[in-house]
Amino acid sequence: MIEGRLEILRHRIQRACEDCGRDPAEVELLPVSKRQPIEAIRAAQALGFWTFGENYVQEGVVKQQQLPDLAFHLIGPLQRNKARAALEHFQAILTVDRVELSQRLHRLAEELQLKRQAWIQVDLWDETTKEGGCSEKDLPAIFSAFEGSPWLAFQGFMAIPPPGQPAAFTALADLRDRWQQKTGQRLRLSMGMSGDLEAAIHAGSDQVRIGTALFGER
Ligand SMILES: *Cc1c(COP(=O)(O)O)cnc(C)c1O
Repeated sequence: MIEGRLEILRHRIQRACEDCGRDPAEVELLPVSKRQPIEAIRAAQALGFWTFGENYVQEGVVKQQQLPDLAFHLIGPLQRNKARAALEHFQAILTVDRVELSQRLHRLAEELQLKRQAWIQVDLWDETTKEGGCSEKDLPAIFSAFEGSPWLAFQGFMAIPPPGQPAAFTALADLRDRWQQKTGQRLRLSMGMSGDLEAAIHAGSDQVRIGTALFGER
């Protein structure tokens, strides 16, 4: 079953890339295994996946302990009291969206001597939903809290734009371009999920985060 879904998914990614002249190898597929059992993750691993996105720190910690050969990336909101556990058990945190959180992660990563990837989650639409994400004006302070850190390597921006608005993806691509100029660093964009990966790829997404289209319904 997962094989069939993966085939369809690869086909969608391939077609989206062809439509806009991109190389499918440029688009990373991050499987999102939240609320999926260990067996489902093992089945995906057998198809070549070694890194998984998880939304909840506690669920990710348990899975990481049961599957120590795999890597987990945190794609859900992070509370400050879970920052230490998140650094200990996740290779990447995609949801840094507050200054105090980025300062804390910076301090803790140094204290624990853990090299991790950090992404800033942005919300350009003032959704103020529970999904999280910072506004553009808060970006510089969040970034400068770990800028130059040997422990936290800045990757780029993650976002969950409002559904059904392809222009939202373009706005994120513009933001990325501006920040690449500003930092002189190649930055990645993590955007697009099962329902909207095509629009995200057209706008320049480097990573699509896929749950249901790979694992089936949760
Ligand atoms: C659940 C989730 C996904 C995957 O969503 P699907 O629609 O199942 O592909 C991607 N990103 C985040 C942040 C999520 O919470």
